[in-house]
Amino acid sequence: MKISKIEAGDFYCDGGAVFGVVPKRVWQKRYPCNDDNFCKMSMRCLLIDTGKRLVMVDTGAGTKHLEYLKYYNINKSCNFEEELNALGYSCDDLTDVVQTHLHFDHCGGGTYFADKARTVIKPTFPNATFWLSKAQWDNYLHPNVREADSFFPENMQPLMEMKRIRLIDSAFALCPEIELRLFDGHSRGQIAPYITYGDKTVVFCGDVIPLSANIPIAWVSAFDCYPVTSMIDKEQLLEEAAEHQQILVFQHDAYTECGKVSKINGRIKLTESFKISEI
Ligand SMILES: [Zn+2]
Repeated sequence: MKISKIEAGDFYCDGGAVFGVVPKRVWQKRYPCNDDNFCKMSMRCLLIDTGKRLVMVDTGAGTKHLEYLKYYNINKSCNFEEELNALGYSCDDLTDVVQTHLHFDHCGGGTYFADKARTVIKPTFPNATFWLSKAQWDNYLHPNVREADSFFPENMQPLMEMKRIRLIDSAFALCPEIELRLFDGHSRGQIAPYITYGDKTVVFCGDVIPLSANIPIAWVSAFDCYPVTSMIDKEQLLEEAAEHQQILVFQHDAYTECGKVSKINGRIKLTESFKISEI
C-alpha cells in the first residue's frame, strides 16, 4: 500500500473568511497573508494505492471555470496525467475518486472541456467511480444561499448522466483500508476518509479542518454553513486523533501537509508536523 499527494494547484482566500470571527491580530501569528490580506491555500489531493484499488481523494478546481474564479487567483491547475505519470500511474488507472464535497475547489478537476467551443465535457478519470454523500448531492441540486456560488453544474452533472457516481448515506467502508465518515458543519454530508496504513490511521480532514491553524475549536471558517456543528465535528475528530495519535492531512494548508495533535492542559494542539511522503 502506498499513499502519495497530488498538488492540484493553489488559490488565495481572504484571511477574514478563512478564520471567521477570529481577529487578524490573533490569526496572523499562525498563518501568513499578503498585503491584501489574502492567504495562500493549497488544493491538495491524496492518492491511495491499496494494491487492488487506486483511489484519489478530491480533484482540485480543474480548468473549466478559471475565468469566472479569477478573484481567487488560481495560479496553477495541475495536469493530472502528468502528475500521475510521475508517480507511475495514468488517469486510466484510477478505480475510485472520493469527493469530500462539491465546492468548486474540491471537485472541478474531475471533468474537463474536451473541445474549444466548451460544449463537450469528459471525465478526467474515465474508469473511476466517483463517491460522494447523498446529503451533499441533494445540497448541490438545491443549494442554500451561502453555498450556491460554490457549485457548478458542469462539475458533477455530466458524471451523474454517465452513471459514474455512487452516493452514500452514512459511514461507509469503500474497501478494507478506507472508511468514509460524514461531517455536517462546513457543508451537509462532507466526507472525511479514514485510511488504515499499516499500524497508522491517516485522516483526510478536508474542510473539517482546512489548515493546521484551524485546530483551535472556535477557529472555524466564515464559509461554514453551520459553524456550531463545525465546532462539535472538529472537537470529536480532534479528540479521537489525539487519543489514537492519528495523522491529520490538511488539504488547504500551503505550509503544513500533515501532522499529529495532543491534548496539553485541556487544549488540543499540533505537536508534530511533517510531509505526506514521510508518513
Ligand atoms: Zn475547500
